[in-house]
Amino acid sequence: MTSIPLNSKPYQEVLESMQSFGKDDAKYKNGRTWSLVYHLNDEHTQFLKDAHGLYFSENGLNPMAFKSLKRFEHEVVKMAAGLLNGDQNVVGTMTSGGTESCLLPVMTYRERAKAKKRIGSIKPEIIAPQSIHVAWEKACKYFNVKMVSIPLKKDFRVDVMALKKKINKHTIMIVASAPSYPHGVIDPIEEIGQVALERKIPFHVDACLGGFFLPFMEQIGFTLPAFDFRVPGVTSISADVHKYGFAAKGVSILLYRNMEYLKHQFFIHQDWPGGVFASPALLGTRPGGPIAAAWAAMNALGKKGYQKITGQIMGCTKKLMDGINTIDGLAIMGRPHMSVFAYASTDPVINIFAVGDVMEDKGWHIDRLQRPEGLHAMVTPAHEAAADQYLMDLREAVDFVRENPQLGSKGNAAMYGMIANIPFRGMIKKQVLKMMEKMYGPDCEMPLDQEGKEPLAIRLGARVMNRLKGFSKKK
Ligand SMILES: *Cc1c(COP(=O)(O)O)cnc(C)c1O
Repeated sequence: MTSIPLNSKPYQEVLESMQSFGKDDAKYKNGRTWSLVYHLNDEHTQFLKDAHGLYFSENGLNPMAFKSLKRFEHEVVKMAAGLLNGDQNVVGTMTSGGTESCLLPVMTYRERAKAKKRIGSIKPEIIAPQSIHVAWEKACKYFNVKMVSIPLKKDFRVDVMALKKKINKHTIMIVASAPSYPHGVIDPIEEIGQVALERKIPFHVDACLGGFFLPFMEQIGFTLPAFDFRVPGVTSISADVHKYGFAAKGVSILLYRNMEYLKHQFFIHQDWPGGVFASPALLGTRPGGPIAAAWAAMNALGKKGYQKITGQIMGCTKKLMDGINTIDGLAIMGRPHMSVFAYASTDPVINIFAVGDVMEDKGWHIDRLQRPEGLHAMVTPAHEAAADQYLMDLREAVDFVRENPQLGSKGNAAMYGMIANIPFRGMIKKQVLKMMEKMYGPDCEMPLDQEGKEPLAIRLGARVMNRLKGFSKKK
């Protein structure tokens, strides 16, 4: 049983022992990972730490006590509103990240619908593309709202005609992506905006990924479909500063077209014995560091800095996408609008998950997509130096899988393939739930076993397989 050590230790000693804990962590600085960390360079990271440190202890919970933080928040919101072509009426709050920026609009628009007596006792509904970020599903679970999921067209953008048909009197909002996390494509925001305006339904654009990237692409000459407050009908936008804003983790921005919407997000309780309480967003205590570091990043990089980074990242993205498209048996999925893309197999002999496994063996950390199957990449400045190696390894991996097609029914590839294709989705959920109970249980069992043993996840997969076999036999 672990407990707090009885004796104090020198700070230095504790720090040293912590360092070794990270030796097996994902190596993001050399571009081996394709998600999770947006690393610009060591100097910028040190600058963020310094800015973060200046307001390390301050608490945004009470903006009267820490006017500095309120000022940072106000200016960051204004800068983001300008970036996304909002007028002077655009208002918003900083949040702890993309997920909070997705959770809150669902609650806010539900409250608004209630206030307008648009919904009664029936469960409210939100309408979203199948490709919408999973945080919106989480919001629906948390706030007891129904997710109405709309299929994608062949180009991986949402089918607007299908979306339109699903609007009813319980609809509290529509949401679409700019761009979507899986395929990096911008949904038809203008068309949806038109529908939203006609039907008087609030429309949120999830630009968590693109909010600090697409505008700079436009500024350096890329032509993109309109996705921001220029589109009539768009009532709110989320943009993560901790992604392509190159800020410290823990910061996103949630903007509304005007106070008419934002006011429904505020929480006020006047009868608490602790005093009258008012809070703009989800958190109580709001750490000052991330707020300060976001302001610092935007001021230090400036438009010119972001433009330069965006240009470099797009150069690298083009190189990667062109390279992948020239590999026999692979193709980019859809036509990604920015630096996030996925690719799939075009050859039945090439199992794309097996390609992913071979890439992992070569030291890359690969993210998988399902339904349809693909491998995913989010390009950052760290990838410039890694792109050539990635393409070379990928070409080799595809050749290797072509020569060894049995790899597709082995190891992780088999598990991912099965998980992607099992028709009984509830079973996957059950098995993953068991896995989480183990990971967060009293013994902290990680899904990967010790050396020499099979990864736990595969065993879970096998068990699902066995059950399914039983199921089909019974039939
Ligand atoms: C990353 C992301 C989110 C969730 O953001 P977190 O910061 O991971 O909580 C939501 N939507 C999109 C489109 C994203 O890319």
